[in-house]
Amino acid sequence: MSATGSAGRGHVVVVGAGIAGLAAAHRLLRRGLRVTVLEASERVGGKLLPGEIAGVRVDLGAESMLARRPEAVDLAREVGLSDELRPPATASASLWTRGALRPMPKGHVMGVPGNASALAGVLSDEGLARIERDAELPRTEIGDDVAVGEYVARRLGREVVDRLVEPLLGGVYAGDAYRISMRAAVPQLFQAARAHDSLTEAVRDIQARAAAGQASGQAAGPVFLGVEGGVGRLPLAVADAVRAHGGEILTGAPVTGLRREDDGGRTAWRVTTGDRVLHADAVILAAPAPVAARLLRGESPEAAAELDAVEYASMALITLAYRRAGTALPQGSGFLVPPVDGRTIKASTFASQKWGWIADEDPDVLVLRASVGRYGETEVLGREDDELVEVARADLREATGLAATPVATRVTRWTDGLPQYPVGHHTRVARVREHLGKLPGLAVCGAAYDGVGIPACIASAYEAADRVQDRPGTVQELTTGPVPGPHRGAGE
Ligand SMILES: Cc1cc2nc3c(=O)[nH]c(=O)nc-3n(C[C@H](O)[C@H](O)[C@H](O)COP(=O)(O)OP(=O)(O)OC[C@H]3O[C@@H](n4cnc5c(N)ncnc54)[C@H](O)[C@@H]3O)c2cc1C
Repeated sequence: MSATGSAGRGHVVVVGAGIAGLAAAHRLLRRGLRVTVLEASERVGGKLLPGEIAGVRVDLGAESMLARRPEAVDLAREVGLSDELRPPATASASLWTRGALRPMPKGHVMGVPGNASALAGVLSDEGLARIERDAELPRTEIGDDVAVGEYVARRLGREVVDRLVEPLLGGVYAGDAYRISMRAAVPQLFQAARAHDSLTEAVRDIQARAAAGQASGQAAGPVFLGVEGGVGRLPLAVADAVRAHGGEILTGAPVTGLRREDDGGRTAWRVTTGDRVLHADAVILAAPAPVAARLLRGESPEAAAELDAVEYASMALITLAYRRAGTALPQGSGFLVPPVDGRTIKASTFASQKWGWIADEDPDVLVLRASVGRYGETEVLGREDDELVEVARADLREATGLAATPVATRVTRWTDGLPQYPVGHHTRVARVREHLGKLPGLAVCGAAYDGVGIPACIASAYEAADRVQDRPGTVQELTTGPVPGPHRGAGE
């Protein structure tokens, strides 16, 4: 084995070059540390993947960033994408339910309405009447955490969960509303529901606060933003910035070993990738939970056991391109499908209607994507690519009338793409961090911890960067040392 690098002063190794690992590297470099990012695959970006179909740029992974929290948009601006942030051209989505595409109701928080009338047209009359009973029911105790579906069904009936909450949550987690933690997945609702006896009253409270925020200009601007050419460009731009600040990114470098070593009386780290060994003062594990578990098995079997228990859902995206001539689609950005309706696809995005640049790049091309696969659903993902294209086409034909033959198709599989956040997830994450707190200079970040969305992953990366930097007597002390690499970022 050859040894690469030395226990260089202030050297941090980041494992994984998804958006979390890259964001952590970017932050540490801007603070003057030396950073090496090790990425198993041949490309950076993880679940963010720019691609192409029929000559136009599209996202083949994540496609939009929540703009109501700052991390993703701020990072995009920091790495030079300020002028390329784009709001969706249309934000009006539909639900494909009870045999028709129906406008997505407004006036709800993750499908939970402030009053029954908000869901008229989507729910049956009995379903709407059941919501009204919320005001009369005695308080439902939430405790430390509760499954979103379970709590909402108790207050408002199952129909709201099955027709609205489930597809909306499923769109984010590919999960099961009756398992997903309300505390972790919809924290705002969790807090409000704790403070009110009635759930609809809790939602109205959230809505009133949001309206007050809007009136004072706090929540101005679009809720989501994309990037011209695809959000998949974000990690590429961050990687460029990392390199420009002197950081090193090695792709095709799966990390296989992690060991503590003694460096003159203090803990340092020995990181193995293939036949190379890197020595680091600190390590950030920004790879999915099973990988972090494997790497931690020797140094923290307790943290590894917790991480081993994190479950994942797999999914596939089917991207279809059509000639626009003679092809008509309903208005809007696409639709969600409640699982109770028994369809195969769970959502479809009308990409060339949602993102203006796609239509601009080739006005003659129409791009749609459909997704399949939810937590625990394995049968559909076992099918061949051409079968997935066919099931997507059949569902799309029924939902939208689109009968044309696509000019190009792509199937992108995201095996174990989304970590699941069941009830108690936050306590598991707290236990992981508690165990890792005993290992100086070691932190974890990414989708498995504080939220699966891009901004949440970036926030967890910054937290991990702060954690290793605050490590007493090591990295922080070393930031004053010389930093290799020609470019120091401005404004550090
Ligand atoms: C299909 C899909 C669509 C999504 N859509 C959206 C969306 O529109 N908006 C949104 O906000 N979020 C979306 N998400 C969620 C979001 O994209 C992800 O949660 C987020 O990108 C995860 O980032 P990460 O850095 O934590 O992990 P990852 O992107 O998984 O990156 C981890 C990296 O670690 C690498 N790695 C693994 N093992 C090793 C090893 N041994 N050594 C070194 N490297 C290793 C992997 O190759 C990978 O590059 C979507 C997710 C999926 C799957």
